[in-house]
Amino acid sequence: MSLADQFPDITKRNAPLVPYTHLKIGGPAEFLVQPRTVDELNAVLSTCQRDRVPVRMLGGGFNLLVRDDPVGGAVIRLVAEPFTFLTRDGARVTAGGGGQLFDLIAFAVRNGLGGLETLVGIRGTVGGSVRCNVGDRAGEISQTVRTVTVLTDAGKVQTRTRDELTFSEHQSDLDEPVILSVEFELASEPTSTVLKRMRKAWVQRKAGEPLSFQAGVRLFRNPPGQTAATLIDRAQMTKAKFGGAELSERNSNYAVAHPGTTARDILSLVDDVRAKVKERTGVALDQELHVW
Ligand SMILES: Cc1cc2nc3c(=O)[nH]c(=O)nc-3n(C[C@H](O)[C@H](O)[C@H](O)COP(=O)(O)OP(=O)(O)OC[C@H]3O[C@@H](n4cnc5c(N)ncnc54)[C@H](O)[C@@H]3O)c2cc1C
Repeated sequence: MSLADQFPDITKRNAPLVPYTHLKIGGPAEFLVQPRTVDELNAVLSTCQRDRVPVRMLGGGFNLLVRDDPVGGAVIRLVAEPFTFLTRDGARVTAGGGGQLFDLIAFAVRNGLGGLETLVGIRGTVGGSVRCNVGDRAGEISQTVRTVTVLTDAGKVQTRTRDELTFSEHQSDLDEPVILSVEFELASEPTSTVLKRMRKAWVQRKAGEPLSFQAGVRLFRNPPGQTAATLIDRAQMTKAKFGGAELSERNSNYAVAHPGTTARDILSLVDDVRAKVKERTGVALDQELHVW
């Protein structure tokens, strides 16, 4: 019996992933599963483990390239309320892993809690953003993380404290299949002060990104003390192209997908840029973009 037969109410077979990724390219999922409760999610994971069905978690698809071929196994989206909730206890906020980062930031600001507002404009879910440790020089999300509650391979709900986790440039060692929720430790501050910082961060971030109507993704992590964009420019790869994929003219560390771009175009561009940067600057860039 397939996953679609066992969980018919929450599973779609051969489901396009294009609507759920920022680049709007790539093949369909063999099974797209949207569980309604944690128990249901657990049952799906146990079945996948028993039947050796590969499992992938899909957040907002902002740091993700789906290859052109079908994605085998189960792709799970956490969109139901048990995965998107927001609660507050004093200066601590707990957010479901499937909720939007923007909703979390807005909730914190409304409650006069500072610490997350400089991340404004970064799109993604809470789970995807913590796994990818989003941020920039103004701060990273990991600085406010207190605990992360995960679902393990063995189907156990476990809470890991900040001390047990390692975060670095746009990555973490969170490798359990699912981030269920994250507790943040924030600072009580006047809402007007937090809002002021948020507005400044918004303007700075938007100036360094592709234009808002363009579908673009970040490609590489910044090496220590340098930026990937500067290295790409130094290697004279500014505005490099491959098929419909092109480096953004506003920031060379983003690939923009023009209509008709394939995943293969993006991957070829990534390979070309990485090889030329290594050859011309001696620096090996580390890929930030997750590829399925
Ligand atoms: C225009 C643009 C600008 C950006 N600017 C920045 C920036 O300034 N700083 C920055 O750090 N990033 C930036 N990013 C990258 C991106 O926004 C973040 O990495 C984003 O938070 C990823 O979250 P997501 O939910 O979209 O994850 P996805 O892209 O869907 O997934 C990323 C990874 O996380 C995993 N994942 C997702 N949800 C879960 C979960 N609940 N449990 C376990 N694993 C999960 C996925 O399996 C995948 O491996 C930018 C991206 C774009 C497109």
